[in-house]
Amino acid sequence: MSKVKQLHELQEIDLDIEHKNETLTQIKSRLGKDDDLISARLALDTARKRLAELEHQQRTAEWGVDDIGKKIAHEEKKLYDGSVKNPRELMSLQQEVEHLKEQHKQQEEQLLNLMLEVDAAQQDAARQSSELEEMDKAWHENQNQLSKEQAEIETELAALEQKREALVEQVDTAGLRTYEEIRKARQGLAVAKVVQGRCQGCRISLPMSDQQRARIGHELARCSNCGRILYMD
Ligand SMILES: [Zn+2]
Repeated sequence: MSKVKQLHELQEIDLDIEHKNETLTQIKSRLGKDDDLISARLALDTARKRLAELEHQQRTAEWGVDDIGKKIAHEEKKLYDGSVKNPRELMSLQQEVEHLKEQHKQQEEQLLNLMLEVDAAQQDAARQSSELEEMDKAWHENQNQLSKEQAEIETELAALEQKREALVEQVDTAGLRTYEEIRKARQGLAVAKVVQGRCQGCRISLPMSDQQRARIGHELARCSNCGRILYMD
């Protein structure tokens, strides 16, 4: 294999390694990231607390309605069983019963509203709970998939590193140094193909002399414009 062909192959490996490392970084940044799940859990927690609070209010309201109901029955009994005979007392008792009945009506209305709120809160909590369950399931599937991809890429990277090492052993030191220097200066692309007389690194038309040197391939021919190593298939 010619020196330049070796360097071109090295570049293919390096680009592949670079690309895979970028993918790996992306995967790692997504692994274990569960912010959405945490906020969904917090929201469900809040919804459940609100439901519990409303249910508590409903029970209290039910007791209240019950109490007044008993009080009314008690006072009405007194009103009709003849135990109170004084007309003024009877009148006052009558007013008391009416007052209690008004209160009873109001509290029943409040209770009804609370029952509606409890119902809505129950539906809300149930919906959030099933959404969280779905999210959790999807998250675990996604994490498993990411872990699998990570393992695959790591295996591929290890193989590429081995391939690179083996190739580097064959490349002469000076050529390798030139390659690394240009790679650094030219954002990873040190070897440029020559296609239809143009350097594919910087796209200029190459003088015949450059093209010829690239074709012969004994020594490393460099593009006189961008300085990349020229490579012809
Ligand atoms: Zn060039």
